[in-house]
Amino acid sequence: MKLIPISPALTETKQFYITHLYYFDINEFMNASHFVNLSSFSISLVNRRMKILIKNIGVLVQTEEASGEGSGKGSGEGSRQKVCGARMSVLPCLKDAWIALDSGLIADYGPMDSFPGISDWSNLKVIDATGKCVFPSWCDSHTHLVYAGSRENEYSDRLKGLSYQEIAIRGGGILNSAALLRKTPEKELYDSAMLRIKEVLLQGTGAIEIKSGYGLDLESELKMLRVIKKIKDTSPLTVKSTFLGAHAVPSEFKGNTAGYLNYLIAEMLPAIASEGLADYCDVFCEKNYFSKEETLKVLEAGLKHGLRPKVHAEQLSHSGGIEAGVCCNAISVDHLEFASDSDIEFLRNSSTMPTILPGAQLFLQLPSAPVRKMIAAGLPLAIASDFNPGSCPSGNMNLMLGLGCMLYKMTPEEVIHAGTLNSAYAMDLSSSHGSIAIGKKANLFITREIPGYSFLPYSFGSNLVETVILNGEIQ
Ligand SMILES: [Zn+2]
Repeated sequence: MKLIPISPALTETKQFYITHLYYFDINEFMNASHFVNLSSFSISLVNRRMKILIKNIGVLVQTEEASGEGSGKGSGEGSRQKVCGARMSVLPCLKDAWIALDSGLIADYGPMDSFPGISDWSNLKVIDATGKCVFPSWCDSHTHLVYAGSRENEYSDRLKGLSYQEIAIRGGGILNSAALLRKTPEKELYDSAMLRIKEVLLQGTGAIEIKSGYGLDLESELKMLRVIKKIKDTSPLTVKSTFLGAHAVPSEFKGNTAGYLNYLIAEMLPAIASEGLADYCDVFCEKNYFSKEETLKVLEAGLKHGLRPKVHAEQLSHSGGIEAGVCCNAISVDHLEFASDSDIEFLRNSSTMPTILPGAQLFLQLPSAPVRKMIAAGLPLAIASDFNPGSCPSGNMNLMLGLGCMLYKMTPEEVIHAGTLNSAYAMDLSSSHGSIAIGKKANLFITREIPGYSFLPYSFGSNLVETVILNGEIQ
């Protein structure tokens, strides 16, 4: 092996090795047995972009190269956008692998025994991941993470026997959260939401959708959406924003759902769209909330403003939300506990991502969505947290994947697809997130030493995430 110093100044403390692509700190890399391709030297100017090499990875999970379904390692047109049916049980991985991150993106990766060559760089960080797994960050495609207060008192009422609907009829539930949110200053909302953002970030989430829907009037919905925009601008997470004005009928429109929807369509939607504050438009399609017809009306109005639909569908009863969502080309329909066989048929002929929210299902003790039937029918499936104060006060995607196995009899491979690439699809992020591919965002996490990827959903309730990297930076 030959040592080539970049400059005398740099060699005072470290020696550097350069090839055509990567720059490594040789002092840290000496104990890896894969070395510089000296025939391809081209000394470049040193710049200060952050680079990270993770080497000796026990298992690199959800790689594009090994799948056989895409066009290779890249994140371009041919790579997988979602994983459907029986394919969900095959998880592409590389054992004993390395991955290089550069300028916030995945630069390359592969098995250690075919490491292509090394260059070196002053601001390179090398991480040894022996015995550990590296996952692409979780994508959480359904949350209500911006809210005021909490609802543990209602939780106590529910434990004493009241149903979610009974609590709502008594003025609790969403309307309770709305009353509190309207009184809460924007800064306070942002500060409390950022605490939750930091919590889920350290649990491995790298992209998240956040809904409005606790404002229920123009001013308060705008306040929520501006908080979401500020989170997007100030946190390292990739954030998508959803307008959920049709979450409940506010008290001032009690008994006048039509009047509220006219207000929502005539005043709220245009104002929100003109400020560019939302990516999607969502409706809680449910008995005592919004019917299938009302859902269609709101979704169609949202589409006119360029907001693609998402739907809260078939959670507490069968209400036609899946059919309404598919009719309007929704990007996802979420919950699905009461989905029927004909709903599965609607979904089979659509580009809509069925999404389950196991935390809310468990918290409300609801029946399981027909997940095995959906997968057997060839459908893809996403998992999200539904992080919200009323029915899932957790945004821990590791826990959600564990619950996916326990509640729906999904396999570890299936839940990992559901929490990465498929939930990225449900936010229109499959091209840039959700799997390990060259050019995708360098959003990933390194676990503690674990025997393999199945250990993660198996160890429900534990946080095995040791190092989080978002946009190529260690958090
Ligand atoms: Zn929800």
